[in-house]
Amino acid sequence: MSKAIYPGSFDPVTNGHLNIIERAAKTFDELIVCVMINAEKHPVFSSEERVELIRRVTKHIPNVTVTQSSGLLAEFAREQNCGVVVKGLRALSDFEHEFQMALINKKINPELDTMFLTASQKYTFLSSSVVKELAGYGADLTPFVPCEIIEDVRARAMRSE
Ligand code: ADP
Repeated sequence: MSKAIYPGSFDPVTNGHLNIIERAAKTFDELIVCVMINAEKHPVFSSEERVELIRRVTKHIPNVTVTQSSGLLAEFAREQNCGVVVKGLRALSDFEHEFQMALINKKINPELDTMFLTASQKYTFLSSSVVKELAGYGADLTPFVPCEIIEDVRARAMRSE
């Protein structure tokens, strides 16, 4: 059985993330979406909330599971017995960082390969930070986040004003 991990902050999950999840889930028998907890970041949604939001928007994809990890991705992959990490590439600006991360992960876990899916053209501009900024202005979020979570994102933007 082929298995891959799609890691990220997902604060919150966007239509760009969901596009990568749907495509990766077609390519692998099992896809583990993992919310990576980074002590240096100050997320708007807790890791439990982010897991729940991703679960809600991936309910229709049976081979997707959602979890969280506060450790190193390369170690998490080893624990899961998984040899592939999937990442989305939006633009050249993503490339340098992702290339560095892929090489570091390979150093820590030589069994681990990183595969890149090019972002859908519709979503190359989209990031969780853009979503949070737009939500703060009360903009229509329909084009940017799955409809099941729009209310949650809007409510959180109002609370943090
Ligand atoms: P961000 O906070 O920038 O949205 P994450 O850390 O949550 O990013 O991203 C997790 C993964 O998803 C990364 O591989 C990132 O490049 C990818 N990704 C983020 N947004 C998009 C998008 N709009 N289209 C495709 N891939 C994306």
